[in-house]
Amino acid sequence: MPFNSLGLSDPLLKAIEKKGYTTPSPIQEKAIPLILKGRDILASAQTGTGKTAGFTLPMLHRLAAENKWKRRPIRALVLTPTRELASQVADSFRDYGSNLRFKTAVLYGGVSIKTQKDKLRMGVDIVVATPGRLLDHLSQKTVDLSEVEVFVLDEGDRMLDMGFIIDIKRIIKFLPYKRQNLLFSATFPKEIRSLASKL
Ligand code: AMP
Repeated sequence: MPFNSLGLSDPLLKAIEKKGYTTPSPIQEKAIPLILKGRDILASAQTGTGKTAGFTLPMLHRLAAENKWKRRPIRALVLTPTRELASQVADSFRDYGSNLRFKTAVLYGGVSIKTQKDKLRMGVDIVVATPGRLLDHLSQKTVDLSEVEVFVLDEGDRMLDMGFIIDIKRIIKFLPYKRQNLLFSATFPKEIRSLASKL
């Protein structure tokens, strides 16, 4: 199946071509059409399967197609367990979105919070964050998640192993009730299934 049969817009297909990808991976073939339809998904996918493009591409498509905003509210939130993964996901949004006008902020601990606050103040459309630093921003009211349209939990089982489940539940309370939820996990222990059913 070629990429152009999945329903992605031209700016995204051009970015895919620039990356040199010829065909979608199995997770991309399954996830992209469902995410484009606005469905929630619960996907079993490990790193290396192309899962990042599997959610970033259709998210960028929908955000661009439904852009009614003059100001820049945060419209998409991705939570990851580690800084490295947060950076990789943010890079994917920037790479695949190179022909669109979205701004992405990556928020994780161990680096200056002030630089992150400055970036947030200028307006960003997409936030990729680790839970602890995002909660710091929420408690200091430097981030507003009330307009989030798509929420992604990446590597859910690793989040659980790293003890982030309570933080995640706290963060979810800041999101609007009506939103699209995308949950990726390599395995599905009981806590992940229960979180998925609550989402
Ligand atoms: P991920 O599983 O998201 O960490 O992606 C693993 C690697 O596969 C990354 O380096 C991507 O750039 C690459 N990749 C993603 N989708 C494709 C594709 N359809 N064809 C070839 N490479 C891809």
